[in-house]
This record gives sequence, structure tokens and C-alpha cells, in this order.
Amino acid sequence: MSFSDLGLSNEIIRAVTERGYTTPTPIQMQAIPAVLSGSDLLAGAQTGTGKTASFTLPLLHRLSSDESVKSTSHGYSPIRALILTPTRELAAQVESSVLSYGKYLKLNTMVMFGGVSINPQKRQLRGRVDILVATPGRLLDHVQQGTVNLSHVEVLVLDEADRMLDMGFIRDIRRILALLPKQRQNLLFFATFSDKIKALATGLLDRPKMIEVARRNVTADTVTQKVYKVEREMKRQLLAHLIRRDDWYQVLVFTRTKYGADRLVKQLSQERIQALAIHGNKSQSARTHALAKFKNGSLQVLVATDIAARGLDISELPHVVNFDMPNVPEDYVHRIGRTGRAGASGEAVSLVSVDEYPLLTDIEKLIQQRLPVEVIAGFGDNSHTKPEVVPDERQQRIKGSKRPTRSTAEQSTPRTVTGGKKSDARPGASRRWAKRDR
Ligand code: AMP
Repeated sequence: MSFSDLGLSNEIIRAVTERGYTTPTPIQMQAIPAVLSGSDLLAGAQTGTGKTASFTLPLLHRLSSDESVKSTSHGYSPIRALILTPTRELAAQVESSVLSYGKYLKLNTMVMFGGVSINPQKRQLRGRVDILVATPGRLLDHVQQGTVNLSHVEVLVLDEADRMLDMGFIRDIRRILALLPKQRQNLLFFATFSDKIKALATGLLDRPKMIEVARRNVTADTVTQKVYKVEREMKRQLLAHLIRRDDWYQVLVFTRTKYGADRLVKQLSQERIQALAIHGNKSQSARTHALAKFKNGSLQVLVATDIAARGLDISELPHVVNFDMPNVPEDYVHRIGRTGRAGASGEAVSLVSVDEYPLLTDIEKLIQQRLPVEVIAGFGDNSHTKPEVVPDERQQRIKGSKRPTRSTAEQSTPRTVTGGKKSDARPGASRRWAKRDR
């Protein structure tokens, strides 16, 4: 099957051909005809499957087939498509895909997110904007100031809707939905299905077509997974050792907290390993700068929290390191899905201290695989170290919560900060680990 078999216009086919795409990916084969038919869509697909093009291409086709420029009573030219994303980086990435696939069409695209001045965005909104890619918070700022008009939106896309719910955006999303015309096409993309997604889809979608492409196979031969058992205090030295020993030139490192990310960057820099961090407390320009350097190969180590790195598409990333193990097992799958893409080989390394053994057990259960374990002399077999509570930013927000599961994380509103709870200690964790045959 080719892109022209899917009924896309010549201008769009020309643009994708220039990008080197020859055949549509499985999500594209299914989603493109569904969107072109005007149906609502509920699609399960992770980053790396070609999901952005699966909604962007038919969206561009639909809007360009009817290019009549309408104007509203306020004199604005109407926004015809709204794409909401959870993070600034993903918004920028989606915008650049829309621009690239739509380069031969006469449609205007705009991206808006917080952390940058609002005034240039206001100016841009006074001109013609056909497609708006936005994060919910900044979009609502514009709504409040009366600088955006959403009353003519024909197509709504919620990209990575599950992550938007994880981040506590549900109320923002509902406020935005209330501003859209009733008659419209809705496309909802998620990476991991949950009851919250089901509830959102039920209220939003009208007889949707449902598509789910195979979850990225984390056991794919292209990703080598490895666990290093390590003393908690030795993680940084071990990471520096691995970077040097194996000449890692481009490595994405995940930490659990923003503070942990900053501290690691400082420590690596002291060891003369060039590193920068991206997370929610960094200014937008710092995030953009770090990501651009990392993508173009001039930054060796990028340290990120899960939320900041969500949806990032970094081609042929060779190494991913779990400096801290994720609390939610699915995040492991998302994290290591950054490497080993498109047939390129990749390596996913987890540095696991004794506190994190139960998290590793949960991950292995999810991926139905035992991960090979190595211990490097000098960095410690830590099975005798006493477990310690690992602080977790998300958990700190959930007063009285037990170990966070995906559903408790969703219930949280990430604006209230309460003291960290010690309920994560999970006595017996190390005993369970000791039984493992390693
Ligand atoms: P996404 O899942 O949207 O983040 O896309 C992942 C990567 O796949 C991006 O770098 C796209 O440029 C690339 N891509 C999307 N569709 C195709 C295709 N049909 N053939 C080859 N590469 C593609």
C-alpha cells in the first residue's frame, strides 16, 4: 500500500515522499482512511509508530480540500483545527510535522505554549491561523484574554491524551471543549489505555472508529536491555564509568525528580561530562536549547524527567539510561521506546538500587521478561543495603496516597504540594528480591 492508495492529495504525497517515506506505517494505514471519512477516532499508538502523520496528513487533506477562508464576526479568520498536546516539546514537534507535511498547501499553522512571551502569540492570532497546536494552559490564557476564537474549530485532536490526564489537565480540557462547536470531528490518541481515557472518550467521541497498533515490543531484538545492581550512592559514578568505558556519545538519562535531574547534571559536569537537563522548572528557552543541542549531536548527555521527555522523537538514539527506576511500570516502556527505532540498534540500561527492586519486579511483570543483571566490580552488589524511601515528586502531591499507580497519578492535581509520605517503603521488598534467582 502507498500513500496515494490512501486517497491523499498530490501536494501531501509530494511532501511525505520528500521526507523519505515510501509506505504508510500500520497506524497510518488504518487512521488515514478513518479520518478522511469524517469519523471520530480513538487510537492507541505510541510515539515512534508514525502517529503524528496519521492524524496530520488526513487533517491537512480535509482542510485543504475546502480552502474557503471564512471570517468570524470579530474579524478573526477562524481556527479550523485544534491539536492539543501535553508538553511544550511535543507541541513544537507536532507543529514542525504539520509544517513539513503541509509545505505545498496554503494553510497557516501556529504553535502556542507557556514559558514564552504571550504578545507575539497574540499578534500571530490576529492573522490567519488554520491549524493551532497548543498546550492547554497557554490556550486558556488566551481564552481568558479574549485573544483566541475557537468557535469554528472543525477538527479537534487530543494527542497523548493519557499523559494530559496524568498531568491533571482534565479540567482544562473540559473548559476548552466547552468553547468548541458541537459539530466537529474528534480524534483522541493515547499510548496507554485506562478507565480515565475510557471516560473521556465516552463523553467526547461519537461512534468512533477504534484502532490500536501493536504496542512497541520492548523485547525487540533492536533494544538490548540490561540492569546494573548498584549501591544507591554509586549510581552517578557508575553512569560516568559506563559513559567513558563504552564511549557513549548520545545518551538520554531519566531521573524521577526535577531536583535529581539538576543534581545529576551538576555532578556529571564536575566529571567533565557534558550534560543538560530538561524538566518543568526549566525555562522554555533552556529546554529548547538543550533539546536542540542533544538532537544535533553536540550534547552528550540529556537528563530528563518522564513528563518533559514524553513524546520526544529523537532519531536513532543509541542509549537510554534509567538512573532512577520509574514508579509507573508503563513509563519504563515509554522510556526505552526512545531507542532501537526504525531498525537501528539501541541499548537501555537501568541502574537499580535496593530500594527499587520492587519497581523492577513490577516492570518485569508488565513486559513479561526477566532482565539480565550485571554487577560491575567496585560499584556494588547492594542486596544487603537497607532499603530507603525514595522521594517521588508525583507522590508528594498525593496526600495520603500509597504507592502511586497510574490511576492515583491521574486523580492527582499536580498543583498541590504536600509533604512526602513514607508509605512507599514497602517492607519486605528486599526479601522478595532476595528470592529472585540472580
Ligand atoms: P511519531 O510516532 O509521529 O513520533 O513518528 C516517529 C517517526 O517516524 C518520525 O521521525 C517520523 O518522521 C517517522 N515516520 C512517520 N511516518 C513514517 C513513514 N510512513 N515512513 C517512515 N518514517 C515515518
